[in-house]
Amino acid sequence: MRIETTFDIGQTVFSVEVGRVLEEMTCPRCNGLGHLIAVTEEGSKHKIDCPASVYDRTKRDPEEGRCRHGKVKVGFRHSVTDIAELTVGQIRVSVGGISGNTNVGGGAHNQTFERKEVVMFYETGIGSGNLWDVGGRTYGNSAWNLCATREEAEAWGAETVTAMDDAMAAEATEAK
Ligand SMILES: [Zn+2]
Repeated sequence: MRIETTFDIGQTVFSVEVGRVLEEMTCPRCNGLGHLIAVTEEGSKHKIDCPASVYDRTKRDPEEGRCRHGKVKVGFRHSVTDIAELTVGQIRVSVGGISGNTNVGGGAHNQTFERKEVVMFYETGIGSGNLWDVGGRTYGNSAWNLCATREEAEAWGAETVTAMDDAMAAEATEAK
């Protein structure tokens, strides 16, 4: 068997992370000032905190839709949160691995494992550092991947942001 790895020891690799970030807009009521000038019937003027609420308040997050210092939190979107340059320090490849005849439930019970390639970087620790799966990972509203070049990392990040934003929009439409 000849085992080939995706990256080489000493190679520079770019990790790219996509996550959910808060989306804000300038408050349309106070135009971003965060306060309004209230005029009483008697004609005296008072500076008051902007009371604007763009959304109904039945939302789970009471801060959503409220003006805070002229900014209104309107929801979330996805964004590339980090691109980091890393140096491959160790590669672990596991191939095959049938767990054997454990005879569970009366019959032969074989479990096969897919090829798995894990990279450790000098920057994030080798031996007791982070294990980075080649091919990346997606979990909930976050995802990361490893790319050979910064351009690839940026392209993957942009694609993933679009895909995750689309999925979030579809989910929101379904929920209505
Ligand atoms: Zn406001």
